[in-house]
Amino acid sequence: MIPIHYTIIPVRPEAHLYRVSCTVDGPDPSGQKFAMPAWVPGSYMIRDFARHVVSIRAASRNRAVALEKLDKHTWRAQPVEGSLTVSFEVYAWDLSVRGAHLDTRHGFFNGACVFLRVLGQESAPCELEILRPMGARYRNWRVATAMPRKGARPYGFGTYVTGDYDELIDHPVEMGEFSLARFRACGVPHDIVITGRHRADLARLQRDLKRLCELHIRFIGEPAPMKRYVFLVTAVGEGYGGLEHRASTALLCSRDDLPREGETEVTERYRTFLGLASHEYFHTWNVKRIKPAAFAPYELDRENYTTLLWAFEGITSYYDDLALLRCGLIEKKDYLELLGRSITTHLRTPGRTIQSLAESSFDAWIKYYRQDENSPNASVSYYVKGSLVALCLDLLVRDKTRGRKSLDDIMRALWRRHGLTGAGVEEDGIERLAAEAAGLELKRYFDEWLRSTRELPLKALLATHGVAMELRPPESSQDKGGRPARSKSAAGLAMLGIRARAHDDDTAVTHVLEGGAAQGAGIAAGDVIVAVDGLRPGRAGLDAALAKRRPGERVVIHAFRRDELITFDAQLGRAETDTCVLSESTGGKRLRERWLGPRRG
Ligand SMILES: [Zn+2]
Repeated sequence: MIPIHYTIIPVRPEAHLYRVSCTVDGPDPSGQKFAMPAWVPGSYMIRDFARHVVSIRAASRNRAVALEKLDKHTWRAQPVEGSLTVSFEVYAWDLSVRGAHLDTRHGFFNGACVFLRVLGQESAPCELEILRPMGARYRNWRVATAMPRKGARPYGFGTYVTGDYDELIDHPVEMGEFSLARFRACGVPHDIVITGRHRADLARLQRDLKRLCELHIRFIGEPAPMKRYVFLVTAVGEGYGGLEHRASTALLCSRDDLPREGETEVTERYRTFLGLASHEYFHTWNVKRIKPAAFAPYELDRENYTTLLWAFEGITSYYDDLALLRCGLIEKKDYLELLGRSITTHLRTPGRTIQSLAESSFDAWIKYYRQDENSPNASVSYYVKGSLVALCLDLLVRDKTRGRKSLDDIMRALWRRHGLTGAGVEEDGIERLAAEAAGLELKRYFDEWLRSTRELPLKALLATHGVAMELRPPESSQDKGGRPARSKSAAGLAMLGIRARAHDDDTAVTHVLEGGAAQGAGIAAGDVIVAVDGLRPGRAGLDAALAKRRPGERVVIHAFRRDELITFDAQLGRAETDTCVLSESTGGKRLRERWLGPRRG
């Protein structure tokens, strides 16, 4: 097929505008249609990227060609003979991993935000010319992307090439004056590109990520499915996010999550960064190559429904931290702490009794990605519960096969059946293959874990693997679980049953939890609590104001709703025993060692 030729230039970085063109040599004789994607694969929400297109025109043989807009993101050009070029400016001011961003400091884009799809020619190869912005200020800019080069020099502006449109939008591009570190994992070149001010220890990042990447590659088995891999990291003050691609990932992190020179231990913050990198890297196999049939191919103009996100996000979330343990970047006690925190997060979500995991996945487009003040009460996370189902599945299979089989075998079977062949996974495909690979009858477990809201048998399954699961009440609103209580006093915290954030010197309610004291008293999300029993808690916050109170006591809460001061009479509740602590127990040592012990070979 004749390639489609794209160009992109940061034409006015100060106005956050890229200019993009798309030239089709063999346009549809009845009038070529072009469309902007409505969403970016990996982030399951309709974003309507066409809304950032600020002006668009078409030309053929130096003559203007009329464009008709057919719907929110589709245009049709008047029929022409010969090649047709559509060009437009696109506004880019979204510094998230799923957007496009441009200023005088750097540029970043996902292809889905900037490149038109040529309808009917999606499988044609694409050539992309990335042009340097005009002006001395941009003289030292370089380009980082996993997109294969065709003429462009390494890290240079120039021409890149992809096999089709799907690949074109699966290689995000960073440009600017970034720092760059390189390493090889199982022989495959890897780049770490960091944008934004930072003082990261690049040598350590190289070392640690090499270990992690080699573990992941060897887990599924060499050779790695990509020829090259790029970590595109944007370091900011506070931020967190990642998006997976076939040969790269875009990560947004706090610069304090990156390891500092002179630091040797894995701090909690660095552990967060490593977990994020591990998660996105595992997606190279699980969702980018082993993918739901619903995503093969992606329909970019609408929602793509699947009940399988629990497997693609949940299993990935299970392996992201487990991989840190397996490659020795964290220790067993750290891993058990992380797992204890996940269980705590899940137990603090009242919506787990309302929404099943399969429903959470199917409705990701309107629920998980569009959270509101009622989300904890009405929905469950397919990341968190999905990772706990992956844990249950792993432990169940290990237990029932006396340690001979595990989720690892299921993942490798998925890879052989779907990753290597490119055949999409049908909605019941994971369940069927899991049963087959483990040699077990698993239907009733999947029915319960995926399609009901019954509690997961975490405690029993962990016990078979020499891990004791204990639940205790939280010690404060900051207590995320995973660690034993600091003090022995178990009088029980008095709780209002809200989630909140600081609002100037007061406390704004963000969520009112189902069945809690606040809900009973009529407090609502958005209320700003200004007094407890006539006293302003101020910066010390609600925890301090309620510290000496007992469950069952009544308190008078004053709060502003809009501009009205309202008085609430609340009877404080008792903190639930929802805070999970995991520890090694005496029994089950053999299975525990097989699960969490040093890897053999
Ligand atoms: Zn993910």
